Amino acid sequence: MALGSFRPTFGRAEAMPEHLRLTDCAYCGGTGWELVEGKGVRPCRCRKSDRTAQLLAAARIPKRYANCSFENYQPQGPPISKNYLSQAQALSAAKHLVDEYPNLEMGLLLMGPCGVGKTHLAVSLLKQLVLVKGIGCLFIDFQDLLKDIQHSYNPVSESSELEVLEPIYAAEVLVLDELGAGKPSAWVRETMAQVVNMRYKESRLTILTTNYSDDPACPGGETLEERVGARLRSRLFEMCKTVVILGDDYRRRVNRQRGDLVSLNPPAGGAAGNAGGAV
Ligand code: ADP
Repeated sequence: MALGSFRPTFGRAEAMPEHLRLTDCAYCGGTGWELVEGKGVRPCRCRKSDRTAQLLAAARIPKRYANCSFENYQPQGPPISKNYLSQAQALSAAKHLVDEYPNLEMGLLLMGPCGVGKTHLAVSLLKQLVLVKGIGCLFIDFQDLLKDIQHSYNPVSESSELEVLEPIYAAEVLVLDELGAGKPSAWVRETMAQVVNMRYKESRLTILTTNYSDDPACPGGETLEERVGARLRSRLFEMCKTVVILGDDYRRRVNRQRGDLVSLNPPAGGAAGNAGGAV
């Protein structure tokens, strides 16, 4: 029997919800059930890719970072420089976490100035966990979370604070991006502590990024501990391996290079264009 023409005795709609159906699947023809010769049927292999797609969608990776991967993270600077080495080490720590998961107890705290690729690495790691290990992950920008919680206090809001926080507590692996960003009011600190402590109590792996450093001599002068409080910083030491990433803002670097390219290739018809144009 041709697999494409196989139809199990139960109804198609029952086999696979409409929005998930892959009608052109060569193995199940959209039923969600694949024939195993001489044995009967089993859930089709296309369900696995459905599940991966669902997990990726549920991870809520921001569009801007959708294409980030370990492959396109390139440590910057001369290969023996501190910047290059710290970025290479961060890349290797992120890959190591994926390889070892779930046999590890500590997440990562990616620490470094703006634009060194902390979010890029955190997203790459999360995507790999979904793709390779089939793990339910979630990406949350800390400032967005605060806004969502604040919005939940609004009487017209359809979600409660618990509904906002529940998926964050429940995610098997959570990326909490930009810890410490935003005005550090008592409420913000309390919320940070609540989220982190909840994950700690449930022994759930958490990856955090922050622009704040542990170095009191850091530019800006405010350390992570000063920003989030000594208790939370101490909790993070327990939960995460700190990975310091050094370097320049990648976005600026790219902009500078674009600027250089523009000046090498001025628009046709311009003064410099004429100088290098046809004779
Ligand atoms: P951070 O979180 O440290 O502020 P991001 O991860 O947001 O930095 O990086 C800013 C942008 O630069 C993103 O588009 C990211 O993909 C890119 N980027 C940063 N570092 C690198 C790198 N080493 N290789 C490739 N892209 C990078």
